[in-house]
Amino acid sequence: MSLAPPSLRSLREPAEAELLPDAVRADLLAVREREAGRDDPAPFVEVLARHGLLSAFATPAADGGYRFEPGWRAVFDALVTLGGIELSLARLFEGHVNALQLIALYGTAAQQARVLRVLGEGGLLGVWGAEGPEPVRLVEDARGGVTLSGAKRYASGAGLLHTALVPITEAETGRMHLLLLDVREKARVDLSSFDMRGMRRSISGTYTFDGVPVTPADRIGAPDDYRREPFFVGGIWRCAAAQLGAIEAIVGGLAGELGRTGRDGHPLQMARIGQAILSARTARLWIEDTAARIETGAAIGDAPAIAKAVALSAYGRLVTEEAAMTVIDLSERGLGLGSFARSHPLEALTRDLSVYIRQANPDAVLLQHGRVLAADMAR
Ligand SMILES: Cc1cc2nc3c(=O)[nH]c(=O)nc-3n(C[C@H](O)[C@H](O)[C@H](O)COP(=O)(O)OP(=O)(O)OC[C@H]3O[C@@H](n4cnc5c(N)ncnc54)[C@H](O)[C@@H]3O)c2cc1C
Repeated sequence: MSLAPPSLRSLREPAEAELLPDAVRADLLAVREREAGRDDPAPFVEVLARHGLLSAFATPAADGGYRFEPGWRAVFDALVTLGGIELSLARLFEGHVNALQLIALYGTAAQQARVLRVLGEGGLLGVWGAEGPEPVRLVEDARGGVTLSGAKRYASGAGLLHTALVPITEAETGRMHLLLLDVREKARVDLSSFDMRGMRRSISGTYTFDGVPVTPADRIGAPDDYRREPFFVGGIWRCAAAQLGAIEAIVGGLAGELGRTGRDGHPLQMARIGQAILSARTARLWIEDTAARIETGAAIGDAPAIAKAVALSAYGRLVTEEAAMTVIDLSERGLGLGSFARSHPLEALTRDLSVYIRQANPDAVLLQHGRVLAADMAR
């Protein structure tokens, strides 16, 4: 007896808010087909802008600013869906949403109004934290003015973003300032620094800030607001949600192809499908749980509740990394050499996912947040 190929979609919970209707998916799939082999994310972002998705989370408020809406489930569903279509686009959208949330949390109404104008022009935002060899620093000139020196690397959307949130660490005190900066100067962009085998459409290049002036209006919140939890480390659930989209799409592709070819009739192939579902489903439950803790309960909880939610979110990132590696391995072994062909539907997804899961310092995440969770479990 041959089992019907399991559908990952049927394992998903019904969405509370459907931000990506079928029309958006269809447009994105058409662009993906048309743009095969090209690294430019602009045509994908244009689809999101045309369907109003770039401004979907910023509801204008009476004071001229905006409220960050409509909640974590909508963000989660959008990231999972985008991650299953084009992971680089999901990465860009994640940065955009992250910036919108931080500016809603810490920005003034005037700064939020500035962002609404950017959104009105179809502009994309992002958060550029990773430092280049010369970290970005604030430089005071003789007349009391402030400019910047140094560069950010792995800056997703470099050359495409309109505005970025740029965290800057003070060398002397370690305090972190969050700046809202126009990053449209093409001459400052170097994409050659992101010569990776995957995630190429995220154009995560280098942006040089030498000589860029900083005004008080560019400073978002108070120093170190950016590092406030649960939204700093805790926010990693969004990155994991984008990765989950690719993981589930790979499992769906593995199950679908083995079902169509009848190879799922072999118990070892069916076992691969089963193992892949276990990994994908485990990652989904972790990320849903941590997203809900970070974006609802923990935000109003006490310090231990926030620390636990943040540690769980960090661990959710590790669970997702593990699930991604398992699912990539199972699909490559189950589908064989054919799945490495550039024309194969899973080739780009597995290549992109293997790059995107390489996030900062996984060893430290395991050890540092493990202490919080160990203390909690030993109570
Ligand atoms: C597609 C993509 C897009 C990105 N976009 C953005 C963006 O828009 N904005 C942004 O800010 N960042 C972005 N990043 C960068 C991301 O935030 C991380 O900076 C980056 O992924 C770090 O990867 P790494 O392998 O260099 O990490 P590392 O921290 O160098 O980890 C590599 C290995 O070294 C270990 N390790 C780390 N430190 C030490 C140490 N001191 N001693 C011994 N071992 C150590 C780690 O545990 C791990 O095993 C992006 C990354 C990717 C992949």
